Amino acid sequence: MKNISNISLSGKRVLIRVDFNVPLDEYFKITDDSRIQAALPTIKKVLADGGKAIIMSHLGRPKNGFEERFSLKHTVKHLSDLLATPVSFSSDCVGENTIADVENMENGDVLVLENLRFYKEEKSGDIGFAKQLANLGDVYVNDAFGTAHRAHASTAIIADYFPDNKYFGLLLSNEISSLEKALDNPERPFTAIIGGAKITGKIDVITSLFDKVDNLIIGGGMAYTFAKAMGGSIGNSLVEDEKVALAKTLITDAKEKGVQLLLPSDSVNADDFNNDADIQSSAITNVQNGFMGLDIGSESIAHFSNAILDSKTIIWNGPMGVFEMKNFANGTKKIGEAICEATKNGAFSLVGGGDSVAAVKQFGFADKVSYISTGGGAMLEYLEGKELPAVVAIQD
Ligand code: AMP
Repeated sequence: MKNISNISLSGKRVLIRVDFNVPLDEYFKITDDSRIQAALPTIKKVLADGGKAIIMSHLGRPKNGFEERFSLKHTVKHLSDLLATPVSFSSDCVGENTIADVENMENGDVLVLENLRFYKEEKSGDIGFAKQLANLGDVYVNDAFGTAHRAHASTAIIADYFPDNKYFGLLLSNEISSLEKALDNPERPFTAIIGGAKITGKIDVITSLFDKVDNLIIGGGMAYTFAKAMGGSIGNSLVEDEKVALAKTLITDAKEKGVQLLLPSDSVNADDFNNDADIQSSAITNVQNGFMGLDIGSESIAHFSNAILDSKTIIWNGPMGVFEMKNFANGTKKIGEAICEATKNGAFSLVGGGDSVAAVKQFGFADKVSYISTGGGAMLEYLEGKELPAVVAIQD
């Protein structure tokens, strides 16, 4: 993989696409800096080589032009603290002022450009905009896995202007090699755990994983559509009625492909979507009217944990229940514990997707799994077997 580790960036203007799409509070303070932390190794490498680090990113979803709450200037002080070096800011990402800001840089300097998505040309993949960005650098480095599945101006189109000088950053190349390790030649048994609210959005990944895994564990809200497909009563649980037929097909497909499909057998139910609601447990196919299933039950936890503990490769995307509420967090926590235990015993475990990553952090498992992916959507598309435009653009 063409990453920056073995090249010298000394004296070069290195244009680095990072993912600084961090959450900000009402005072524009960063509430979770993981994405900035994840980009540090690449930025530090450029500085250690004596290059000029020009940082470009998007932040949030601006509608049309500048919006204070989406300005990347809010990341500058924190980046400077983390790097222990001054960081400058350019109040635009293209145009005369930005060109001048780049011209003023010395080797070892860091400059953050303003939010790329203040220009609609970024998302539309505009060639002229990509060219203007490209003019700012001698070398292009993409380290933004979170947007690797998008063919935007700064993530893919720009690479055309650096036929001999385009590289993966250290984060992006780690992301890809971790996914390759899990998918291309996994040590078996290989278990995928898919949870979250709905089947919609995860069908493609489930179908594609059928060709790769030995066990597929399903939890979270989507499990109730499967329970309904098996003829169960699911009370007021989340259900996608239009997906019941599909759930039936998936159950048959799993059998045909020799994949063990593990569905929850029991459920923790509440009479309201509320942490303080009345709670009762039942078989997942027998949720009382007036109750909704918000977590997997103890029997399912035991069953899933056994499969996880037997596995040598594990991927996890999506929580097992409404883990944001304490009374419905147990399933997600226990499955996380089983993954950590399996990892301790030598399994390779990869966790991705905003909510599973939040859960892993909430329960303190972050350094007990093998790899935490920074990109939910990009990871899902990779697992679906799709090519990621940003990766293709560098490999071309
Ligand atoms: P997703 O973005 O599809 O991965 O879904 C994540 C969300 O699913 C989290 O916010 C969970 O609270 C929610 N979730 C998990 N299990 C359930 C459930 N049984 N009923 C409703 N929502 C759920």
